[in-house]
Amino acid sequence: MSVSDRQPVTAPRRPTRQVTVGDLTIGGDAPVRVQTMTTTITGDLLATGQQIMELASAGAELVRVTVNDDAAAEALPLLVKGANVPLVADIHYQHELALRSIEAGVAKLRINPGNIGSRDKVREVVQAAKDAGVPIRVGVNKGSLHRRYEKLAATDPAGALVQSALDELEVFEQLDYRDVLVSLKSSEPMEVIEACRRFAKISDVPQHLGVTEAGTLAAGIARSTTAMGVLLAEGIGDTVRISLADDPVYEVNAAFHMLQALGLREGKARVVACPTCGRVEVDVVALANRVEELAKDLPGDRVISVLGCIVNGPGEAKAADLGIAAGRTKVAIYRKGVLHRQVDKAELDAVLEEEIERLR
Ligand code: SF4
Repeated sequence: MSVSDRQPVTAPRRPTRQVTVGDLTIGGDAPVRVQTMTTTITGDLLATGQQIMELASAGAELVRVTVNDDAAAEALPLLVKGANVPLVADIHYQHELALRSIEAGVAKLRINPGNIGSRDKVREVVQAAKDAGVPIRVGVNKGSLHRRYEKLAATDPAGALVQSALDELEVFEQLDYRDVLVSLKSSEPMEVIEACRRFAKISDVPQHLGVTEAGTLAAGIARSTTAMGVLLAEGIGDTVRISLADDPVYEVNAAFHMLQALGLREGKARVVACPTCGRVEVDVVALANRVEELAKDLPGDRVISVLGCIVNGPGEAKAADLGIAAGRTKVAIYRKGVLHRQVDKAELDAVLEEEIERLR
């Protein structure tokens, strides 16, 4: 069996009902979907349209835009027309903006039950969404829970998140509308884990996972993947967003790395890189980044190892399709664990292109 033929261990999936968003299925037997959100002013058509395209090229399968004012609502029809991924309208406070978003042709709505207003307003939005076939995510956030859950949240934050979602779902049941998803978010990963586990025990509504206000790049990825990794490994979660106080392209990349680590998505070829130490003979960070760039379109099951010296080179190369281990003047290139050639450092870039091309 070749290195690339090995069978990965894959996280199980909990069965949920399937919802169709634009031309994308979520839940059921669909792959766990990756979504993100624009950071531009939505009314700035050019900037928002451009960012949607960048996020789609990075692999985002749904892109959410905030619809917070008239300018945003007016920009939506053109944004929807120009987007090559389904767009999700994020609504807080003003239910009229939800109605306008449906008219604009968005593929999905996200409403916050803590601030969307009275039951009548929610009913109006759900009925309009049902008529137009637009699914809705009930996005519950601990930071914006309705005040009726404040007392419960003080003693049982996860319980308050779940209860808020269940109460909102009653409207969907009354109107017999099943195209609904739920997210139960907090900035505390353990609260997210607890809330999503409890919800999964009692409902087949698909869950969108996320840790809200997770933080800057390193902290945000760590806090998000801590919660989502546990849940996904237990089979809970149908879509994900890693929220970062940084470029949302990183959110998409990090989400695919997480899903790939769990065996849930193929993702991109995996580049194994050493953390470097005093023995290092090459700029590993630059080399690993170059390899990632060259390998970005390879099949996701390919593995390339980049080692800063020869200490672990042969060992790591055994588990890789292509191994690169730097020496003082030469770089050793392994193919499926076998030393294939040694090249001068000056030739490395050209050799990398050639060797990575062979992995297609
Ligand atoms: S592979 Fe070499 S340079 Fe990299 S961490 Fe290990 S010993 Fe250090």
